[in-house]
Amino acid sequence: MIKIKESDLQLIKGEGRLHYPDECCGLLIGKKENNYNVVVKVIPTINDWENQRYFLREIMDKPDLGKQENFAIAPKTMLQIQKEVRGKNLDIIGIYHSHPNHPAIPSEFDRAIAWEGYSYIIMSVVEKQVEKLFCWQLDEDRRFQEENIIIY
Ligand SMILES: [Zn+2]
Repeated sequence: MIKIKESDLQLIKGEGRLHYPDECCGLLIGKKENNYNVVVKVIPTINDWENQRYFLREIMDKPDLGKQENFAIAPKTMLQIQKEVRGKNLDIIGIYHSHPNHPAIPSEFDRAIAWEGYSYIIMSVVEKQVEKLFCWQLDEDRRFQEENIIIY
C-alpha cells in the first residue's frame, strides 16, 4: 500500500497534462512505515529517453516511438536526488510516469526495468486529461500487483 498527499497526487496529474502527448516521469520520495510506502514529496524529473534509449532499447518489447511511448530517468539524476534525500532520512521509494493515450497499466518494458519494493504510479492521459491513475508494485514473482492508494 502507498500513502500520498492529495496535493502530491494533483502535482503528478498536472505533470501528466503538461507533458502530454509525451510521457512525463518523476520520483516518489518518502519512507517505509510498516507495510506502507509513505510519500512525503514528489520530484518531477526530465524524461531523458533521448539520451538513455541506447542503453535500454535491447530490452524493449516494441519499436522505439520516442518519448510519446517511453520514459527514462537519467541514472545521474537518480543518484543526485538519492544523495540529497538520504541526508534528510528519506529515500526514493517509487517512480511515477504517464501513459499518453494508453491504459494506466504497466507495459512489459515497465516490468523489465522495475525494482522490487518500489511503488509505480502510472496514469493514463487522453486529450490532456488524466483518465485513470493506479499504483503498482512487483510481487515475489516479478509480476505487478495493484497497490491501494491511501490519501493522507
Ligand atoms: Zn509505462
